[in-house]
Amino acid sequence: MILIDGKKAAAELRAELKQEVAELKAKHNKVPGLTVILIGDLTPSQIYVRNKEKSANEVGLKSEVIKYPDSVEEKIVLEKIKELNSDKTVSGILVQLPLPKHIDKQKVIEAIHPSKDVDGFHPMNVGNLSSGYESSIPCTPLGCYLLIKKFEPSLNGKKAVVVGRSNLNGKPMTQLLLKENCTVTITHSKTKDLKAECLEADIIVAAVGIPELVRGDWVKKDAIVIDVGINKTDKGIVGDVHFEEVSKNVKALTPVPGGVGPMTIACLLKNTIDCFKRSQI
Ligand code: NAP
Repeated sequence: MILIDGKKAAAELRAELKQEVAELKAKHNKVPGLTVILIGDLTPSQIYVRNKEKSANEVGLKSEVIKYPDSVEEKIVLEKIKELNSDKTVSGILVQLPLPKHIDKQKVIEAIHPSKDVDGFHPMNVGNLSSGYESSIPCTPLGCYLLIKKFEPSLNGKKAVVVGRSNLNGKPMTQLLLKENCTVTITHSKTKDLKAECLEADIIVAAVGIPELVRGDWVKKDAIVIDVGINKTDKGIVGDVHFEEVSKNVKALTPVPGGVGPMTIACLLKNTIDCFKRSQI
């Protein structure tokens, strides 16, 4: 079994992006800029945002974090987004989720101009992705896709099973695999026989949020398995795939931690740079 090393792949991607930022700076005399809006003081959100800022600085992006207290009014946030939409030094805008209950998530997502939507959540980007057009792609599925492609450059005709149909992971992942000519089955909590579906798959992407759901006798010998799950349990952080069992039975598997996670932030940087490049055309 080959362990797909997300840490290494993310470090390689960041090195490529750093080089690209240097070239863009030489060509345009400016660098892509990422602005993150952080509302409230949830510890995981603060850690994510700190990591995003650190990684953005490392590759040479201009990065800014705008912080608001939990009690901030929705209209203040929407006004700030409007201002950032017309700021030429800002290539990408990200509002860290989750938001306090009094702020309408969908309104916030739709307020970000699609050309600066580095999360790929705006309906325009969702539509473009599903139509096969150029778009910002949500960072986690993009990271999964890059890991799969690095391991298996041609996915033509492969059978893929995506476990989970969230807008964040499962649905965009399905679109990316379809674009690569996979035959894709998307599964969810009402799927009748998940084990039987998984047993058919050359590629499994599990994005469910249930610890160790995918078991060793659910997988084919030559399958590639990508584990998106991050679940806190008594024995520490585990994925949606039973690592010990599945690692004995497949061709390749991502670990948790150290698989998909590191690729997510690297893909945010990639999306920021791609937004910048599209804005220079
Ligand atoms: P989500 O929005 O809660 O969606 C979970 C999906 O799993 C839903 O579509 C649900 O089906 C499906 N599901 C639930 N129980 C199932 C079952 N027994 N069999 C098959 N499908 C089932 O979750 P998410 O935001 O996509 O996140 C999934 C996991 O990825 C979580 O552990 C999260 O922490 C992790 N995550 C990791 C990263 C990273 O960077 N590595 C980023 C984001 C999320 P229904 O639609 O029918 O309810």
